[in-house]
Amino acid sequence: MPRSIKITTILLALALIAIACDQDKTSSKETVQTPPANNPADAITPKLNFPPDTSPPPKFDGERAMQYVKEIVALGPRPIGSANHKKVEDYLLARLKSDNVENDVFTADTPEGKFPVHNIIAKFPGQKDGIIVVASHYDTNYPLRNTSYIGANDGASSSALLLEIANQLRGKPNDGFSIWLVWDDAEESIRPDTEIPFEQDALYGIKHLAEKWESDGTLKKIKAFLLADMIGDADLEIERESNSTPWLEDVVYEAATRLGYQSHFFARTMQISDDHLPFLKRGVACADLIDFSYGYDNVFWHTPQDTVDKLSPKSLEITGSTILETIRILDKMEPLPPK
Ligand SMILES: [Zn+2]
Repeated sequence: MPRSIKITTILLALALIAIACDQDKTSSKETVQTPPANNPADAITPKLNFPPDTSPPPKFDGERAMQYVKEIVALGPRPIGSANHKKVEDYLLARLKSDNVENDVFTADTPEGKFPVHNIIAKFPGQKDGIIVVASHYDTNYPLRNTSYIGANDGASSSALLLEIANQLRGKPNDGFSIWLVWDDAEESIRPDTEIPFEQDALYGIKHLAEKWESDGTLKKIKAFLLADMIGDADLEIERESNSTPWLEDVVYEAATRLGYQSHFFARTMQISDDHLPFLKRGVACADLIDFSYGYDNVFWHTPQDTVDKLSPKSLEITGSTILETIRILDKMEPLPPK
């Protein structure tokens, strides 16, 4: 339709301007800000029919998740190759000791040499044929390894969120899709702000996992990939992320609306290169849940000011419950839209 072509052209032009303006800020995630749509939930895809909820809303303990954040950051900076990194691996595995865990361990060849990489996957089986993946990276920024940087929001908040989701899933019957929680490793850029392309210099763990699951046939079973990143900010404003799959983001928005949390979602649209890209490229429906306004103009991102005092249990609860509600809606949507 001519109108939508025109809108697309304007958006593209604005996006290109945004790229030009933002180049100095894209040190490890590549971002483009685009103008907000009139109604974020309806803007891109036709309205989906969402099945009603027939049971009480999901539970998520934000206080307990916050306690996990504090325990993770207490280990100190956790860049790949460090002794603290091994401590956080052990910490996560100890919390998951009664679960079915897959360890995806390999050596990454990076511009700074070879590093051990350890993706941790906890699998919670369901009755339906198919898998929903929820992912978070747990390494901290490598270039800041010799500072006090502890990544309370960037890495710890979403890793803690997944631990609390595991608590909610553990030991309960699940008549929906299987849920696999992925703590992916070596996500952060090794040499940002250089000529090395972002996707070549970052996302080492999740790239490996996507390749592995493609070759062993697992990938075909994945119905949705939900990514959590920087979701602990007390002033929670999750972006509509324009690389993500529009219909899946619409399901997230519906889930947030059912819980009364929609004001924290999708007021702004940004394009962000993040851990979902290797799965997106392989045709998996993905939604990146990220708040990329961490302090005014994202000022705390990738600085030693990324500390626990900027976060809140409520934000963890909002994101965690919305993810669980999203899964509950996906379980009842028949059939899921084409990828
Ligand atoms: Zn980061």
